[in-house]
Amino acid sequence: MKDLCKIYIDRLKEDKTEILRQDVSSDFLAIQEKELRFTPTVFVHIEALIQDDLLILQLNAQATAIMPCAVCNTMTEHPLTVKNILITVPLEKITNSIYDCSEDLREALLLEIPITTECNRNCSERNNLKKFLNKEKLHHYPFKNLFMKKEN
Ligand SMILES: [Zn+2]
Repeated sequence: MKDLCKIYIDRLKEDKTEILRQDVSSDFLAIQEKELRFTPTVFVHIEALIQDDLLILQLNAQATAIMPCAVCNTMTEHPLTVKNILITVPLEKITNSIYDCSEDLREALLLEIPITTECNRNCSERNNLKKFLNKEKLHHYPFKNLFMKKEN
């Protein structure tokens, strides 16, 4: 499946855009953690063009991360979208007439992963959490104790 992210340079004609649209396995994202994994399929849409001595690629991809809801901890699907990322590669740097753009796609998709997510974009447990938070003191200084200890 990984081969599907490969661009075969000798199939490209000068100044003619080649479009690749396909589902690829999310294996190339190479992350399988307890708190971060992906649904099996990534939709990839690549436009490739050779101009002068450059391979020009426009990358689009849609993947789905699975990560815990920040509120209730339920594993939650979070869509990741990469849109129109432009990459240029000098042809002289491409060996065997094949450019594998899976690493570029991987980097672009990983950048889209949020620090936190919430189930259904608005966790139903949030209201319960608010009640709990209101009971806490509004101003909590975690280092206060530390400074006091120093003074002693
Ligand atoms: Zn939740």
